[in-house]
Amino acid sequence: MIDSHCHLDFNCFDHDRAQILENCSKLSINTIVLPGTQASQWQKQIDLCNLFPQLRFALGVHPYFLQHFDSSHLVKLTHLLEHYQNKVVALGEIGLDTHIDVDWQLQKYVFEQQLTIAKEQQLPVILHHRNSHNELIRILKTTQFSQGGVVHAFSGSLQEAQTYIDLGFKIGVGGGITYPRANKTRKTIAQLPLYTLVLETDAPDMPIMGKQGQRNSPEYLPDIFESLLALRKETRHELLQACSKNVRDSLLLA
Ligand SMILES: [Zn+2]
Repeated sequence: MIDSHCHLDFNCFDHDRAQILENCSKLSINTIVLPGTQASQWQKQIDLCNLFPQLRFALGVHPYFLQHFDSSHLVKLTHLLEHYQNKVVALGEIGLDTHIDVDWQLQKYVFEQQLTIAKEQQLPVILHHRNSHNELIRILKTTQFSQGGVVHAFSGSLQEAQTYIDLGFKIGVGGGITYPRANKTRKTIAQLPLYTLVLETDAPDMPIMGKQGQRNSPEYLPDIFESLLALRKETRHELLQACSKNVRDSLLLA
């Protein structure tokens, strides 16, 4: 199993990261992707991936972390992506979020700049969204972005998901689907083509049902898988195989 989105580089895992990874191995979670969030965190992600072979990294500037943003970060990002072109799996996570108190024009600027870098370096992207599908899709279309990637923690309608799929993206399935009240998203995920689904935890965020208020962990990836299996028609084996293959088809894991 592959956790396609997990912030295991965050400080809240510093005291027990090795133990968590050992537990993950026992659960057959063999690959975990660490998405980038801000410039000050990139070196730590790279160091951790050197230390633990099951970890892989993406680099990028997440809209949440723009308070310390400086345009030199985009230069640094470009250089690091070039330097680690055989190791980096994507540019991300990047995107737009209407629920945070971060200047909208700045969010759009940093997102578009990173899309340009991804185009130049032929990298897929990991997309963050919150109440921002329309604008994300508009920008992806107007910039003719064609490298694809993953729409992380997808929530939304079948039509929205289909638009991303048509643009070459896979759909990130996270802990949200463990909540029966997430009706619309569960219905969407149940109907999507099998080749579009990838699993993720987004740990330490997005705790699964029953673990609200606790630190989320990649160890809960099998719980998300069970919820997905219950929504789908495929057998356990088919779904497991497809979810891993889909990550390899969208991020540069080879
Ligand atoms: Zn994330």
